[in-house]
Amino acid sequence: MSVPEQNLNPNFSKKNLGAIKVADLFAGIKQGNIASLSQGITLLESELPEHTEKANELLKLCLPLSGNSLRIGITGIPGAGKSTFIESIGKTIISEKNKLAILAIDPSSSLSKGSILGDKTRMEDLSKLSEVFIRPTPTSGNLGGVARATKESMILCEAAGFNIILVETVGVGQSEIELHYLTDIFLLLLIPGAGDELQGIKRGIMEMADLILVNKAEGENANAAKQAVKQLENATHYLQQNKYGRSVGVKSISALQNIGVIEIWEKIKTDLEMWKNNSSFNDKRKDQSVFWFDQSLNNGLKNIIQQKSDWKKTYDQLRTEIESGKLHPFIGADEMLREITGKSN
Ligand code: GDP
Repeated sequence: MSVPEQNLNPNFSKKNLGAIKVADLFAGIKQGNIASLSQGITLLESELPEHTEKANELLKLCLPLSGNSLRIGITGIPGAGKSTFIESIGKTIISEKNKLAILAIDPSSSLSKGSILGDKTRMEDLSKLSEVFIRPTPTSGNLGGVARATKESMILCEAAGFNIILVETVGVGQSEIELHYLTDIFLLLLIPGAGDELQGIKRGIMEMADLILVNKAEGENANAAKQAVKQLENATHYLQQNKYGRSVGVKSISALQNIGVIEIWEKIKTDLEMWKNNSSFNDKRKDQSVFWFDQSLNNGLKNIIQQKSDWKKTYDQLRTEIESGKLHPFIGADEMLREITGKSN
């Protein structure tokens, strides 16, 4: 198998970015050129100051062409079958003349320095297709930063004509919460395990999911899967409809044998259509816009502090005191704000 390097390597052509003109990159992206898209994403991810301005310029050009894709989030522990499921549903998705981008957030990769989700053996069939773009998120940065990078990558993918975007995260933890602010529909993939999964999965994540899929529901697993579906239906039955008027669906599938996967794609389309016709879809997107506004503002304010040497000095001092337990974070924040605003109280 040969996977285009730019599809898998986030550092692709990083050294050449300085010479590239934003207008050329944008023209390539608009035409759906995968190499331009990859380079554009690498530019956004670059932490080099000389790239920041270009990255912002590119983002601004792409923004008017973005927003029209359907964004699907998928999460589950390693081994749940996420890549097998994405291979399977991905083939159905592109058989309907869609263009599919798969963005993988892998928080473990910053620790291991290697990305599980960027592994070349994952989604082997899909990665060969020209209608599919696969990209792991960069391995550095905190999770908030990774989610932001994913959000920005999404904008570029949409500008390049990808109308379905799958965002995949590994594990059960903070990354799912970020996923909630990135996608229109949120899928949680589980494996049958005699009720164990209910203990392992935090209630908050079940509440956030739109659809829980019990995978590997075939052969001798079929009964265990049926039981898991029943338990999950009982557990989710007591959850109120969420603030977008949605209740959690539970289904069993076999990603490997392609059982029930087409039905899941049909359900995703039907649900999204329904949510577009009532206010659910827009309400969620509105919340996301406000979330990203707040995030950007926080980031921007922090950058401003870092750029002014007096403020940076105070910030670093306060941080050290907070870290050592000498100062309460609220009081530290107050002090910082007083210095910035010049107010004495
Ligand atoms: P991921 O880590 O969540 O991406 O999981 P993978 O898709 O890599 O799957 C982990 C293992 O489970 C692989 O060996 C898959 O072949 C297997 N697997 C995935 N889906 C199914 C399924 O529906 N049935 C069975 N029996 N195995 C599956």
